[in-house]
Order: sequence, then structure tokens, then C-alpha cells
Amino acid sequence: MALKESEAIVLRTYPLREADLLVTLFTRAEGKVRGVARSAKKSKRRFGGALEPMTYVRAFYDVREEQELARVDACEVIESPLASEVGYARAVALAHVAELLDELLPDHEVNDAVFRLTLSVLRVLSGEEIWMPVTYFELWLTRLVGFLPELTECIVCGRSLNGSRTYFHALADGLMCADDKRLASSEISSESRALAAQMFRAPVESFADSGEPWPKARGADLRKFLIQTLQRHIEKKLVTAGMMERIADQQYC
Ligand SMILES: [Zn+2]
Repeated sequence: MALKESEAIVLRTYPLREADLLVTLFTRAEGKVRGVARSAKKSKRRFGGALEPMTYVRAFYDVREEQELARVDACEVIESPLASEVGYARAVALAHVAELLDELLPDHEVNDAVFRLTLSVLRVLSGEEIWMPVTYFELWLTRLVGFLPELTECIVCGRSLNGSRTYFHALADGLMCADDKRLASSEISSESRALAAQMFRAPVESFADSGEPWPKARGADLRKFLIQTLQRHIEKKLVTAGMMERIADQQYC
């Protein structure tokens, strides 16, 4: 039973007995791992500051056969979101990324593409702009876990949606043309669909470096469509999606 070592992103911690913490890690080596960090609340030496959600760490742990929970022995900080100031909007955005990963990734399944996506988005989320990195993360995550439908044609009639008005519905598995939209559908603008296409061609840094202001309204219809798509697949509401909705447009860190 050798101790394993892996880069990991801390997703969640819950207090357990006394000083112990239940920790969910997204490890690079074997995907999502749940474990117990004994005396984590006391031991600065083994865990000092490394168990804050969305901290990028080097984790030392072992997974025992026939035991659901790993033993998390120690974590060393590689990059901490607390290195820059965390205001309310950024705290919610970080919690949102953590919840999406926790809900969408199966246990013990390696996903290096999602790991790299998360690291690059986390770096951009260190600034005060939250809506661009959150939009980028939701879009790519939906695609990488295989839940993103075709965005260029109507799921009912198959017609190309380029240049025409386009709709989506919480219970439908893709986009629809004006003739096939359901009652109480929402519209997704051609600007937002073009934005999605652009995000599939360029790294998140290129959007951050452009310095363009990114108000909450930009891509809001795309985010609503993505969250509805993800929630339909996991069959539950994402707690942080509602919190994101309630962040005021001008509320930065
Ligand atoms: Zn149609």
C-alpha cells in the first residue's frame, strides 16, 4: 500500500469528527478521489492552507481496496486562489467551478483535458473579471463531458440555424428553429453562438489578454443554455448557478 502522489485540485471539504476533514480532490493521476485528512484542522505542517477549495496542490494519499475513502496524508500548495484577494463575486465563481467538477466528474476516472481546462481558467479567474472565465469553463466542460449538443442545426427538423433565430428549452436536448421551438422557450442570440464558436478556437488567455470589458449580460443566454443542459443530465439543480444569477452586474471583488 504505497503512498500515491499527484497534482490535484481541492474541490470541497467537510468537517468530520473533531479535527478531521472529508476532502474531495480532483487528482490528475486518477480523477476524483474522496478521502479523509486526519487532524487536518490542527496540522499546519501537513496541510497548511492547502485545503481551501480550488487550491492547486500536490497531494499525497493512498486508496485502499474495499475502502470507499482514501487516506489523504498531506497536501502542498502549488497555487492558491487566496494569493489574490477574494471578493464575493470571485468566491461564488470559484465555488461554481468546484461544484460543476464535483457534480460532473465520475469518481476515479482520469480526465486530463478537464484538468488542464480547470488550471487555465483558474489562472484567469485570479483577476476581477468573472463572467468571461466562467462562460469559457461552462462551455468547454459541457463539451468535454460529452453533453454539448450540435449548435448549428435544429434538433427537430435538422435545418441549419446559421443566421436565423434560435431557441432552447429546459427539457429539450439542443437548439431549435423558430418553427419548432416549444412553448416558453428562451432565445439564444447569434452573437452568443458566434462567441461559443470563437471560444472553441482560442485559449482562455486570449480572451483575458484582449482586455475587452465583459459585463454579466454578455453570453448570459449561452450560460443559461449550458446550465440547463448540464442540470438536465445530472438531474439536479446546481446550487451555485442560482448564486451566480444573483451577482449584480457591477459587483467585482
Ligand atoms: Zn426546426
